[in-house]
Amino acid sequence: MSDPEELAERVRDGELRLYELEEHADHATAAAARRHLLAEETGADVEPLSEEALDLAGAEANIENAVGTAEVPMGVAGPLPVAGGAADGEYYLPLATTEGALVASVNRGAAAIRDAGGADARVTDRGMTRAPVFRVEGVVEASEVVEWVGENEDRLREAAESTTNHGELLGVEPYVVGDSVFLRFAYDTKDAMGMNMATIATGEACELVEAETPADLVALSGNLCTDKKPAAINAVEGRGRTVTADVFLSADLVAERLNTTPDAIAEANVRKNLVGSAKAGSLGFNAHAANVVAAAFLATGQDEAQVVEGANAITTMDAREEGLYASVSLASLEVGTVGGGTRLPTQSAALDVLGLAGGGDPPGSNADALAEVIAAGTLAGELSLLAALASRHLASAHAELGR
Ligand code: NAP
Repeated sequence: MSDPEELAERVRDGELRLYELEEHADHATAAAARRHLLAEETGADVEPLSEEALDLAGAEANIENAVGTAEVPMGVAGPLPVAGGAADGEYYLPLATTEGALVASVNRGAAAIRDAGGADARVTDRGMTRAPVFRVEGVVEASEVVEWVGENEDRLREAAESTTNHGELLGVEPYVVGDSVFLRFAYDTKDAMGMNMATIATGEACELVEAETPADLVALSGNLCTDKKPAAINAVEGRGRTVTADVFLSADLVAERLNTTPDAIAEANVRKNLVGSAKAGSLGFNAHAANVVAAAFLATGQDEAQVVEGANAITTMDAREEGLYASVSLASLEVGTVGGGTRLPTQSAALDVLGLAGGGDPPGSNADALAEVIAAGTLAGELSLLAALASRHLASAHAELGR
């Protein structure tokens, strides 16, 4: 009965909400209308999102023994206003997931953040790490290696940076365990997530360490990096981007948008995210950061195994006078807008919807902005889920939307 352009127009005019389109058209038309709206609002080429099969000829760098594709539906949450160090504007956050209710939940949180005037976000630290492990005779040789590294960081930098145009060595932190020496190299990898870049650069630096010290390389990755394993070192030292998003919501807004009170959300956060997580021995102290991080990673071509450390987040919710202060701090969010899976057509289109495809100007600013938008999306997800729990609405929302 409606064509996509007309439906998109009605959403733009505020006559229909983004999530109401299926009430007025079949699913394919509703999705086409949303794509039309995204193209108009963001200038992105969203056509790849409508294609159902990837041309495997363009994916040789990403897969071996190819048999086809695993399709995961993609939606958007937003618009989500983010005032970041690099992000600036209203973003539609692409999310790929099979969990019903997730996009709706993030979308509800995004609406609350929008009504509050938007989220602030900042990348407060960056550094992709690789930590090779070396064998030495004992602690005497180990301390010799540590001393040499301390005195020769310039030479290590020169060796490492000879392998890359963009990567910069930020520092090398040594760790000694008996006759093992670990050197944790940290790099500014600009707009690349940087794991290949850091590994190649570190390999070059290791040759210098072996030539100049008694250390013998055992493994280029010694697990103190730490990649794709839950680890306290990432929570404390950070890895990739360390990023925080926060927002202040008035008590009226919490009542209207989230059907609860600042006190109820703050109490749910303390007892669940802090006390419950502490009792469970969790590394992350949050409600479901992994949901938003994983869905954004799949949509935008990040390395999905790094959701392990990407979801290492602490959520705080404080009932302050007149309202609620809400924040999410992600210690180790490893994201890029170049390289890896970001160059595949749908993932590149999703980055384009955010206005963040490819290298940034200055280099690193696109990946910073992506980290800030994902942090703000995670904040939206935390707010919505905690509100659902605080108002005892969670089971009914899932029953309605997810099954
Ligand atoms: P990559 O695709 O290997 O490299 C990114 C490339 O982008 C670099 O060659 C860099 O060139 C170039 N580049 C262009 N513009 C840039 C900009 N503005 N900022 C930064 N770089 C820019 O990607 P990666 O991020 O290093 O590594 C990600 C891949 O590593 C993913 O596919 C992931 O699955 C995989 N991975 C590898 C390991 C491993 O141990 N090797 C571990 C986990 C994941 P220059 O370097 O010449 O500057």
